[in-house]
Amino acid sequence: MKPTILACAALIAASPTLLAAAEVTKGFGPSDAGFKLDPVLPPALDDAAAKATFSLIDGEKDGNSPALAVLGDGKVPAGEDQPSANFFFAGDGGRIGLDLGSLISVKGVATYSWHREGRGPQVYKLYAADGTAKDFNATPKRGTDPKTCGWELVAEVDTRPKTGDGGGQHAAQVANKNGKPLGEFRHLLFDISKTSDNGFTNTFFSEIDVLNAKQSEVQRIKPLEKIVKQFKSKDGKFRYTIDSTKAPALTEWSEKELLPVIEEWYPKLVAMLPSDGYRAPDQVTFEYRDDMGGTPAYAAGNRIALSAPWYTGQLKNEKNETKGCAVHEMGHVVQNYWRARMTNRQPKDTPGWITEGICDYIRWFLFEPESKGAHVRDVRQAKYDASYRTTANFLDWVIKEKDKDLLQKLNAAAREGKYEEKLWKDWTGKTVQELGDEWKKAVEDGKR
Ligand SMILES: [Zn+2]
Repeated sequence: MKPTILACAALIAASPTLLAAAEVTKGFGPSDAGFKLDPVLPPALDDAAAKATFSLIDGEKDGNSPALAVLGDGKVPAGEDQPSANFFFAGDGGRIGLDLGSLISVKGVATYSWHREGRGPQVYKLYAADGTAKDFNATPKRGTDPKTCGWELVAEVDTRPKTGDGGGQHAAQVANKNGKPLGEFRHLLFDISKTSDNGFTNTFFSEIDVLNAKQSEVQRIKPLEKIVKQFKSKDGKFRYTIDSTKAPALTEWSEKELLPVIEEWYPKLVAMLPSDGYRAPDQVTFEYRDDMGGTPAYAAGNRIALSAPWYTGQLKNEKNETKGCAVHEMGHVVQNYWRARMTNRQPKDTPGWITEGICDYIRWFLFEPESKGAHVRDVRQAKYDASYRTTANFLDWVIKEKDKDLLQKLNAAAREGKYEEKLWKDWTGKTVQELGDEWKKAVEDGKR
């Protein structure tokens, strides 16, 4: 005779209505929807899980995942691939326990997850227990059916879409259709599976909420309001998008101060950096982000990311680098040097010092020469391939002293995957080293 099975049978008999009414409501939003997952409400801050204890019953936490407490901290990730803000397993899923500390009338359970690819959706079974069954096992491993040791199956959750990897924000809410509590429970058990057999598909769980039927009001995170503005150039050729969702305080500045710079300089950059058969992107998106660490800005394709904290900090100084930084990044959008791989079977790599030097040359010598931002202060630093401002100074010298068309030639060679050192000699009669030495002399003589 197996007493555990008997205990289990008795338990099911005691609450026969539970499974019939529990309903799973799914919510989905694209990445960056700010956890607005209608009809599921955004994550709660002061729900019963915030005071409860999570425990790892079975399975292995991924080395990059934080501890389980992240599931109850009321915080959601800032980005669509942020391991430090989500709990996730290594291997093939596992079991998480949640001890509510005492018997609670559970009105509902909600789980939230977010990832841009296959770690987005959720697949799990939810069990609950009051912990009073004679053979109750609070930590059943995966080989043990929880129903045989004092647990009830409350719901099976699967938020995977019919097609695609399901990247985006997911929510699953388990509650009774009629609004009545799910039951009186102290323990919850999440039996979690990977979302597919391919690659990295252990769900990034962001938050788990447990609603106490006796708690009259729950505070919830406020979903971000999207602030996305679109602008068209007067001649209709270009369109610019500014997304200040993550930096609402910069919305007005962006429109009044930054947009005029964009409208004047993007077409200028396009005209300044031509090459045969090339058409620069006619749409550019500027997006403030708050997850860029110490990087002020970067460009990827026709999207420019601007660090919201960096821009906010810079704007406290009257002389600041905000606009010049945007001009530099617009230079990268127009450069498009990755394109060489599509148009040239054997593209030569353009050294990074040239790519960055060109953008900084435009920025410091054409956009804001009055700032003298690329003046070489220390002669020992005067190396033509030192990149950024130093290379910008070198390029300005070569253009003024040797070849006024150098910028166009250098840009076209780079974009077409044809850059090589001997071109300097073709263009100026001197090797790049010779030019570098001559320029260094000018720096030493205080002429740069
Ligand atoms: Zn750059």
